[in-house]
Amino acid sequence: MRQKNVAIIGGGILGLAIGYRLSNDYRQYRVTIFEKEPEIGSHQSGRNSGVLHCGLNYKPKSLKARLAVQGIRDMIGFCKANEVDFDQCGKIVVATNEEEEITLNNIAERGKQNGLIGLKFLDVGEIQGREPHIFGTKALLVPEEGIVDYKGVMKKLALKIQEKDSEVLVNTKVDKVHSSEKKGIIITKDGEKEFDFIINCSGLHSDRVYSNLTQSKRPLRIIPFRGEYLSFKEEYNDMVNHLVYPVPNNKFPFLGVHFTRMISGGREVGPNAVFAFKREGYSNTDISLNDSIDSLFYKGFHRFVRNNFNFAMGEFSSSLLRSSFIKKAKKMMPEIQGSMLEKGGAGVRAQAMDNKGNLIMDFRIEKKDKQIHVLNAPSPGATASLAIADYIIKKYIE
Ligand SMILES: Cc1cc2nc3c(=O)[nH]c(=O)nc-3n(C[C@H](O)[C@H](O)[C@H](O)COP(=O)(O)OP(=O)(O)OC[C@H]3O[C@@H](n4cnc5c(N)ncnc54)[C@H](O)[C@@H]3O)c2cc1C
Repeated sequence: MRQKNVAIIGGGILGLAIGYRLSNDYRQYRVTIFEKEPEIGSHQSGRNSGVLHCGLNYKPKSLKARLAVQGIRDMIGFCKANEVDFDQCGKIVVATNEEEEITLNNIAERGKQNGLIGLKFLDVGEIQGREPHIFGTKALLVPEEGIVDYKGVMKKLALKIQEKDSEVLVNTKVDKVHSSEKKGIIITKDGEKEFDFIINCSGLHSDRVYSNLTQSKRPLRIIPFRGEYLSFKEEYNDMVNHLVYPVPNNKFPFLGVHFTRMISGGREVGPNAVFAFKREGYSNTDISLNDSIDSLFYKGFHRFVRNNFNFAMGEFSSSLLRSSFIKKAKKMMPEIQGSMLEKGGAGVRAQAMDNKGNLIMDFRIEKKDKQIHVLNAPSPGATASLAIADYIIKKYIE
C-alpha cells in the first residue's frame, strides 16, 4: 500500500529520475510529476550535449565529483537494462600550448583523486591517430566518458513511473503552492492537491518556485546562459570521431566550445555560454522583460560582468558573429570552415549565481520542512541524475 504522496515540480531528467527511484525502489511512495510543457524534457534535459561525464575536473569530494562518478555508472546500468542507446566512446581533453599542458596535468590529478579509471596522456602522434583533424600538443584520454540518448532515458523513466501507479502530468503548470510543516498544497489549472512532500526540480525557474513555496527571499538567482551549437554538414561528419574538449578554464563551470559525436550519428561544435534575455529563450531575439530585469537588476550580475567582462563579451560576439564562434573552434581544428557547418540547436543553462557575482559551481540542494529544492544542477546534472536522486532520497526523505 502506498502511504505517502510526493509532488515533483518539473519533468526534466532530474524530476523524472527522483520520481523513478521513489516509485520503483520504495513501495510507500506515490509520485505525481507536474510538467508545464506538452512534453517532458523540453528544456535543459532535452537540449544538452548528450554527453556522459564521469567527474574528471570537479573539485574532489564536491557533490559534483561524487555524484558524477557514481552517476555515469548508474546511467549506463539504466541504459543497458532498458535498451536506451549509449556509447562509451571516450573523450580527449586537448592542450594546445605549454600553459594548457600544465592545467591538463592538474586535471588528470583531480580525475585520479575522483576515482576515474584508465586515464592516459596522448602525444601528438596518438592524438592524430585518434582524431586526424585535431591539433594538440598533448591530450588526456578519458575512456569512461561517452554519449547517450537522454530523450530516450527520459521516456523510459516516465514509463516506469507510470507502471507503478504514479503519474507524469504534462501541460500542467504549478501556479501556486501552499506549504506547512506537515503538508504541501499544489495549485494548478485543474485545482488543488495535497502532498506529504514537494520536490522542486523546476530548473530555470527553481529560484522562483523556491520563493513561492517558502515565502522567503531567494538565496541565489538563476542566471540563464544560452549555449548555441553549430552542426557539421553530413559530408563533414568524419572530421570528428569521438568527443574532443579543450582544456577548461576552472573559473567557469562551462566546458568551452567542444566537438561532439552525437548518439544520432551527427557531429556538433559548441556550446558557447551567452547571457540570455529570456530564461527559456533559445535565440538572440527571444526577450522577456521580466527575466531580463531579474538578471540585469541583480547586484551579483553586475559584479559578475565587471569581473568577467572579457569573457562575457567574447561569448556574446560568438553568438552574434559566426566567424567569432568558428575562431574558437579553429584553435583545436585549424581546418574548420564556416561552409562545413550549419545552424544547430541551443540550450539554456540554469546557472545559479550569488549576490557577490560568484557562479555556484557545485550542485545545491536545500530542504525546508516538507520541501526539497534543487537550486543548482548544471552539467553534469543529466549524467548524475540517478545518483542525485539517490542522494536526495537517502539524505532528505528516508
Ligand atoms: C547547453 C547545455 C549542455 C549541457 N550538456 C550536458 C551534457 O552533455 N551532459 C550532462 O550530464 N549535462 C549537461 N547539461 C546539464 C543538464 O542538461 C542539466 O543538468 C539537467 O538537464 C538538469 O535537469 P533538470 O530536470 O534539473 O532541469 P530541466 O530539464 O530544465 O527541467 C525542469 C523542468 O521544470 C519544468 N517547470 C519549470 N517550472 C515549472 C512549473 N511552475 N510547473 C511545472 N513545471 C515546471 C520545465 O518546463 C522543465 O521541463 C547541459 C545543459 C545545457 C543547457
